[in-house]
Amino acid sequence: MSWDLDTQSADLRAQGLWRDLRLLDGVKGPIVQVDSQQLINFSSNDYLGLAASSELKEALKEGVNLYGAGSGASRLVSGTQRPHLQLEEALAEFKKTQAALTFSSGYAAALGTIPGLLGPSDTIILDKLSHACLVDAARLSGATIRVFPHNHVEKLERLLATAKGRVLIVTEAIFSMDGDACALLEIVSLKERYGAWLLLDEAHSVGVLGPQGRGLAAALGLENQVELHMGTLSKSFGLSGGYLAASRQVIDLLINRARSLIYSTAPAPALAYAAVHALALLSGQDGDLRRDRLWSYLAILHPEPPPASAILPKVIGDENEALKVSVDLKTRGFLIPAIRYPTVSRGSARLRITCTAGHSQGQIEQLKAELDAVDEFK
Ligand SMILES: *Cc1c(COP(=O)(O)O)cnc(C)c1O
Repeated sequence: MSWDLDTQSADLRAQGLWRDLRLLDGVKGPIVQVDSQQLINFSSNDYLGLAASSELKEALKEGVNLYGAGSGASRLVSGTQRPHLQLEEALAEFKKTQAALTFSSGYAAALGTIPGLLGPSDTIILDKLSHACLVDAARLSGATIRVFPHNHVEKLERLLATAKGRVLIVTEAIFSMDGDACALLEIVSLKERYGAWLLLDEAHSVGVLGPQGRGLAAALGLENQVELHMGTLSKSFGLSGGYLAASRQVIDLLINRARSLIYSTAPAPALAYAAVHALALLSGQDGDLRRDRLWSYLAILHPEPPPASAILPKVIGDENEALKVSVDLKTRGFLIPAIRYPTVSRGSARLRITCTAGHSQGQIEQLKAELDAVDEFK
C-alpha cells in the first residue's frame, strides 16, 4: 500500500488548500517582516498588545530569574510551583469561580477537561462553528456528539430534549473565525431548563469584553450560570497557556483525570509568574485604557453595525480568490491571511482581520483607506 504523499500534496494544492509555514521576522509589535517586506500585522490575537509590552517582558524575565527556564516535570510528579498556584487563585477570582486549573495551552485545556468529565454514556452538544480543540476533545471523550447549526437555539433545544446521560453544551463565546457572539442568554436558559452543563470557551472575549475584560458571560451578568469557563493565556494575555475555571469539585476531579495535565510537563513557572502580571494589567486600569483604544479602532474600521469583537471577517468564498486578495493586500503592506478549509467550511474562505490596542491610530486609518478601496470589501 503506497502512502501517496505526492498525490495528497497535489490534491491540496489543486484545491487552493495548501499551507506553508512562512517566516515572520523582525516582529516589533504590529510591524513584522515577511519575505523581507515590512507589513502591518492584522492577524494577531494579542488583542491588548500585551505581548510586546515592557511590563510583561520584564515580568517574564523576572520569572526566569526567580524560577529558572523550565519546570522539569509534570505538576503531579515533583510538585506544583508557587506561580502556578498563584495564577490559578487569581484566575478563579477573576472569573468569580471557586477554583481554576491551568494547562500548557487552550488546546490542552479542552483536551484535558472534556474527556476528564464525560464518557461514552454521556452527550456533548456543540455549536457547528466550535473550535477544533473542542471538537477533538468531544471525540476523545467517547461521548455521543450532537451538533447544532451556528447559534440555532431551536435545534439546540430539540437536541437537548432527546439527549442521553449527562449533557454538556459546548460553545465559543466569540467565534474565532466569524467574530460574532453566541446566543448566551438563550443557551443558558435552555441549559437550566434541561439540566445540562455549559462549557463556554472565552478565548476571544476575555480581555476584550465585559467589566475588567472578564468576558462575554460577565458582560451579560451570566457568570454564575456557566459551569465550565474555558480560556487561553495565548491571546489577550499576550503569553501562552490555557485554563479552566469552575467549582472546586470539578477542578479537584480534573487534577485526577485531565490527561493533558497529568502526562505533560508543567509550563515554565516563569510563564505562570508573567501571567499573574498579565492578568493584573488586563483587569486593571491599564487594561481599561487598552480596551478603550481597541474599541475606538473598531469603530473606525466598522462604524455600522458596531462589531461584537475585535475579529472582522470578510468572507470571499472561493479559496483561491481569497488567497489572491490576501496576496494583493500584502503587496500593499498588510498582513491579512486567507482563512480556508478546514479552519472554515469549504467555499467560505475569508480574510480575517484582527485589530489590537497595540496598533497606532495611523495604522488603523491606513487599513480603513485600503479596505474602502478594495472591491471585495464593498
Ligand atoms: C486559540 C483558541 C483556542 C486554543 O488556545 P491556545 O492557547 O492557542 O491553544 C481554543 N479555543 C478557541 C476558540 C481559540 O480561538
